[in-house]
Amino acid sequence: MIPYGAQAIDQSDIDAVVQVLQGRFLTQGPAVAEFEQAIGKQAGCRYVVAVSNGTSALHLACCVLDLEPGDIFWTTPNTFVASASCGLFRGAQVDFVDIHPDSRNMDIHCLEEKLRQAKRLNKLPKCVIPVHFAGLPCELDRIQALSKEFGFKIIEDAAHALGARYRNSSIGNCQYSDITTFSFHPVKMVTTGEGGAICTNDETLYRRLLRLRQHGIEKPVFDGRHPNTLHAYQQVEVGYNYRLTDIQAALGTSQMKKVGLFLKSRQEKAAYYYEQLKHLPLKLPKTGAHMKSSWHLFVIELETDIETDRIKTDKVDSDRDALAVFLKERGIGTQVHYIPVYWHPSIARQGFKPGYCPNSEAYYKRALSLPLYPGLSQEEQDYIIQSLKEYFS
Ligand SMILES: *Cc1c(COP(=O)(O)O)cnc(C)c1O
Repeated sequence: MIPYGAQAIDQSDIDAVVQVLQGRFLTQGPAVAEFEQAIGKQAGCRYVVAVSNGTSALHLACCVLDLEPGDIFWTTPNTFVASASCGLFRGAQVDFVDIHPDSRNMDIHCLEEKLRQAKRLNKLPKCVIPVHFAGLPCELDRIQALSKEFGFKIIEDAAHALGARYRNSSIGNCQYSDITTFSFHPVKMVTTGEGGAICTNDETLYRRLLRLRQHGIEKPVFDGRHPNTLHAYQQVEVGYNYRLTDIQAALGTSQMKKVGLFLKSRQEKAAYYYEQLKHLPLKLPKTGAHMKSSWHLFVIELETDIETDRIKTDKVDSDRDALAVFLKERGIGTQVHYIPVYWHPSIARQGFKPGYCPNSEAYYKRALSLPLYPGLSQEEQDYIIQSLKEYFS
């Protein structure tokens, strides 16, 4: 079975991990610091805090931006649940901004309209979490301008977008946001097994992120209460154990050396899909001239009838799920990114009804992610393309 996504691990990755296992530190140690430097260099930000996964990265971002019960935060419905869970952990209330059908990212006009309405109702969000879906950057300059007008903080969920670029700046440099988070789950651009990172240029936020990563503990302590300050520490605020291990970080640093190759490989495969699939009744991903996708995903949309969700052509009578089954029967794995987040029972029960974000729902019914990862061979990709051509012929 060809999976829709997969990690690329080589001997140098294995050697890097083995080297840590033979050394003194297993959990957070010098390898984590080295990994943070590598991310900082790629992202172009001042401070990086590596953490246990992308979800804990988002959670700590919400903590240090003081998202509290009674506060409201907004994200896109076209994302993984973690983009919403992170603020719900804080007891804040979530709301969603519909996507643009072409970028599949948060629609700037919907965002602006919703902000104006929220201002009238005195229900402005404290924080907005845009997601660079599939690796394509959101319109960050517009979101930043709106954040200044309406006074909200920005957390970029860049789980898909390590290596992506927007207007000559790297995603992660936080030029347009307060914080950017990454994930190093095996399907993402580079992997640490499980892992995540938080980028910021704000030293105060950085200090607090470091503390919250390890139980909210700081040391040394010089408050006079301890007879020997050598072993003293104190919990300044209740924090978490969100540390990354040195084992994972060593894998991460080794992977980061290849991020340029990974990006190039994904970009070439995406271009090949584009070239080969452009005459089929499919809507292919769009990119903007002022941005560069990291091509985490290659999502096709079936050109289905808006009423029936079935393909229009007279040659095939089908829908997205039938195509997915057809491909699966040929050993080709696909995935759907994403079920509108507010459809999940955990969030639907907060009062979101079907139809809340029509663009996201229409997109969801037609979308299918094709296999795309550095290890996908030319033969495999040709086989996928040939299968699609066969399906529509
Ligand atoms: C993967 C992902 C996350 C969560 O990352 P984990 O490392 O799996 O916790 C968050 N947001 C998006 C958009 C993701 O794709």
